[in-house]
Amino acid sequence: MAVAVAFITIALPHAQSRTRVVVLGTGTPNPDPDRFGPSVAVVVDAASYLVDFGVGVVRRAAGAERAGIAALAAPRLTRAFATHLHSDHTLGFADLILTPWILERETPLEVYGPRGLRAMADHLVAAYAEDIRVRRTGGEPAHRYDPRIVHVHEIAPGIVFRDERVTVTAFAVPHGAWPQAFGYRFQTPDRTIVISGDTGPESRLEDQCQRCDVLVHEVYSEAGLAGRTADWQKYHARYHTSSRQLGAIAQRARPGLLVLYHQLIWSSTEEDLLKEVRSAYDGKVVSAHDLDVY
Ligand SMILES: [Zn+2]
Ligand SMILES: [Zn+2]
Repeated sequence: MAVAVAFITIALPHAQSRTRVVVLGTGTPNPDPDRFGPSVAVVVDAASYLVDFGVGVVRRAAGAERAGIAALAAPRLTRAFATHLHSDHTLGFADLILTPWILERETPLEVYGPRGLRAMADHLVAAYAEDIRVRRTGGEPAHRYDPRIVHVHEIAPGIVFRDERVTVTAFAVPHGAWPQAFGYRFQTPDRTIVISGDTGPESRLEDQCQRCDVLVHEVYSEAGLAGRTADWQKYHARYHTSSRQLGAIAQRARPGLLVLYHQLIWSSTEEDLLKEVRSAYDGKVVSAHDLDVY
């Protein structure tokens, strides 16, 4: 009986919801072997919508598929939304263009994001010209389409995508010198999910969340920052959001659940990071690891 009760406790939230947030990668440029590049999947029924594609994105998606989320099988990775073009968020772009194509994805990738995304796709396809030539003419079974076709949509803030499951709204966030950086809001049949991308503290994220179900937000540890050099401290204060600043944002936003990702912890600890957030926020908060599902 005890086993059955435990099972129900764990299974109920996902069983009841059509929408799941699968954190594929929680990393940053720092090569933590346990944290792949930033990428979050919003999964609604059998469809997936990726936000960012850091290093290892297709392999982490395969890990989620193995854990039972069929929507993240490589051939089903058909739509992605880029927050901005920093390399840690886009190192998996070639992977996302090419690997599912080899694995018989039926249609080219549809990808949405800031100005410059088109040029990045064009350059990556050009960089892999020899691979593409050999795979297409060197004896691999016929593929479904020409992988040089990538459907890139360079967007402005507002509703950028809509289908029968989701409405996706892009909003501008301040991320240092970047001319365009976006966060995304997903409205699904049963949940509202807001993902910050990388942002400084003046984001007004609370206007996007407003008691949303899940707020996935980047963060750095205030205590960890204190151990950094003065020039890096200046950089991070401008480009990112501190634990205490995020606590204040979440206190105004009132999400059902605050999920920390893209955690810059440095010499501090995850436990202290959570303490710092909680010092300004009394709602539910978790610090995500790769392949966590909410
Ligand atoms: Zn980043
Ligand atoms: Zn960034």
